[in-house]
Amino acid sequence: MAMKSKKKPPKKKKSAPTKARAAKSAKGVKAGKPAHAAGTEPKRVAEILAKLDEAYPNATCELKHENAFQLLVSTILSAQCTDVRVNQVAETLYKKYPDAKAFAYATPSELQQDIRPTGFFRNKTKSVMGASKAILEKFGGQVPRTMEEILTLPGVARKTGNVVLGTAYGIASGVVVDTHVLRLSNRLDLSRSEDPKKVEQDLMKIIPQDKWIQFSHQLIWHGRRVCHARKPKCLECNMESLCYAKDKTL
Ligand code: SF4
Repeated sequence: MAMKSKKKPPKKKKSAPTKARAAKSAKGVKAGKPAHAAGTEPKRVAEILAKLDEAYPNATCELKHENAFQLLVSTILSAQCTDVRVNQVAETLYKKYPDAKAFAYATPSELQQDIRPTGFFRNKTKSVMGASKAILEKFGGQVPRTMEEILTLPGVARKTGNVVLGTAYGIASGVVVDTHVLRLSNRLDLSRSEDPKKVEQDLMKIIPQDKWIQFSHQLIWHGRRVCHARKPKCLECNMESLCYAKDKTL
């Protein structure tokens, strides 16, 4: 009987210690070669989430509202407009138009003037009145609670749907991708797309669902307070060590 020759097991390659890997990655960054594959690495994403929690534990929607319907209207009005301006308009608007019925049967030319300071007031009037009518006629006067239904309202796309479902109802239907979330997702290398729909899909894959709502608010807060489109305040940013954005100011 022939003896079986014992094969030596292949030597295991020692994996580089984490610090060394980080240093290697940092070196690549300085040389203009970011470790792209590492952008959405779970450990890095978890670190970003922890940093956001640390910096913005109480981040929330900055549009003032008393119910889901008001938030829906304010979110429609916030397109191409600041939340501060929308809040100013909203203060008198919801006294004059207290519910969906009031908006649905408003005089268009009058409503246009009431929301004029938010810009694009003709289209916004159509959207607000159309959404209000649909809420009355199809949803019994209540803002629907599913993305599928809310998307049937005139003037409502996924961003608005996510804002309302997440903030008013606490339903994590997706990630709000506004101009800040789009910019920061690119800078933090969480998505390389510039299409908000694709960015949202990318974020939904790497952010745990129970963080979707808070993550959206936190990124918007960071974009407004620190990571501005022009001249981000990288010196004040607690994610600086994790960020290798080309337009970093450090
Ligand atoms: S380091 Fe600068 S560019 Fe990067 S996330 Fe922070 S503020 Fe934005």
